[in-house]
Amino acid sequence: MKIIVQKYGGSSVADTNKIKNVAQRISKKIEEGNKLVVVVSAMGKTTDNLIKLAKEITNNLVPRELDMLLTTGEQVAASLLALALNDIGIKCKSLNAFQAGIVTTSDFTQARIKNLKSKKIKYLFKENNAIIITGFQGITEEGEITTLGRGGSDTSAVAVAAALNAKCEIYSDVAGIYSTDPRIHPTAKKLKFITYDEMLEMSSLGAKVLHSRSVEIAKKFGITIYCGSTFSDEEGSYVMKKNIEQPVVSGLSVMDNQTQVTLSNLPLDYNLVQQIFEKVAKEGLNVDMISVISNTGLNISFTIIEEKKSHIAKTLSNILKDMKGFNIDYHSGYSKISIVGIGMKSSSGVASKYFKALEKIPIKLVTTSEIKISCLVEEKFKDKAVKALIETFEL
Ligand code: ADP
Ligand code: ASP
Ligand code: MG
Repeated sequence: MKIIVQKYGGSSVADTNKIKNVAQRISKKIEEGNKLVVVVSAMGKTTDNLIKLAKEITNNLVPRELDMLLTTGEQVAASLLALALNDIGIKCKSLNAFQAGIVTTSDFTQARIKNLKSKKIKYLFKENNAIIITGFQGITEEGEITTLGRGGSDTSAVAVAAALNAKCEIYSDVAGIYSTDPRIHPTAKKLKFITYDEMLEMSSLGAKVLHSRSVEIAKKFGITIYCGSTFSDEEGSYVMKKNIEQPVVSGLSVMDNQTQVTLSNLPLDYNLVQQIFEKVAKEGLNVDMISVISNTGLNISFTIIEEKKSHIAKTLSNILKDMKGFNIDYHSGYSKISIVGIGMKSSSGVASKYFKALEKIPIKLVTTSEIKISCLVEEKFKDKAVKALIETFEL
């Protein structure tokens, strides 16, 4: 029995005709002798619309209740797809996360999959050729319903593929992974291969084509992810361990809505750095692009998403309430622009080309890893910076 796990995102199941189209695609694979597990997202913009509804009621979006609400979207899509498959004579069953046994942590709205009971799926394949599973959903050991974070259906699919040791195919409205977002830059190049590490950087730096946690799981279990289009048979991209082509720079990602927090002139006490970041982490705040400089005083700068500005401000004023003589600045409206490439490890001169491309653009902060360089710029310079980098690195 050959099992393939396929995932169809929101745009692939946006209306009933599209759901019927997905059913036809599944049917074709079954005719070729495969059994299919199909993970689906909510139809179109359903999740956004549900959040909007909740916000019309209150600003206090209690995470547990939000998850109760948001998980309904995937359930609608899964059952409609099962009905469409039944209608064309395919034996199938749809399952929600509880029925499929997708056990997660209890971090509502951003739960992580702890384990997945594949026994039930295998058992159901005795009588069925397709099992439809709601993406994005999980269930805690206590029976609470959770979600895996926005875009989390990719993670559901890869986790199911890992549990079944099956092929994993992720279908969306674009024909694969491109050097940069093909909807914003139609001339972006499609990448035939991309390594887990590059894809992890791209996803966490803003490319929403794959949920970054899905790439982490694929890397851990050695699952190759194929990404392709639901609407064409054009050959897509493979996310895997090695990139045979080893390009120096493969892709560029952009993340908007960044706030830079700068603490300057703090006393030269190195424990303070640890204390600040420990408290910030305890608040569940994700900071990024950290720089610490000590001269006459201690200066710390980092970024955080704009949405968390008041939370971080409250946290910092609490930590530093007994201290005097320092400054805190918050600057919003920044974008983080990153280039990623596995070949950077073994090639020199990338940084110099990068800064040459950005020579007339005021850069606020820079961070690097072995395979990426990120810089923070005011949003008004974003387009210019992106264009220069795309030209320089032929993306
Ligand atoms: P789905 O709803 O199927 O999960 P998403 O909207 O989450 O699809 O992800 C697909 C979208 O990701 C594309 O429409 C594209 O605009 C965006 N995207 C951003 N960066 C990239 C990239 N480097 N390659 C491909 N798509 C990208
Ligand atoms: N429906 C969820 C979202 O919009 C999950 C997903 O699409 O992967 O975030
Ligand atoms: Mg997605």
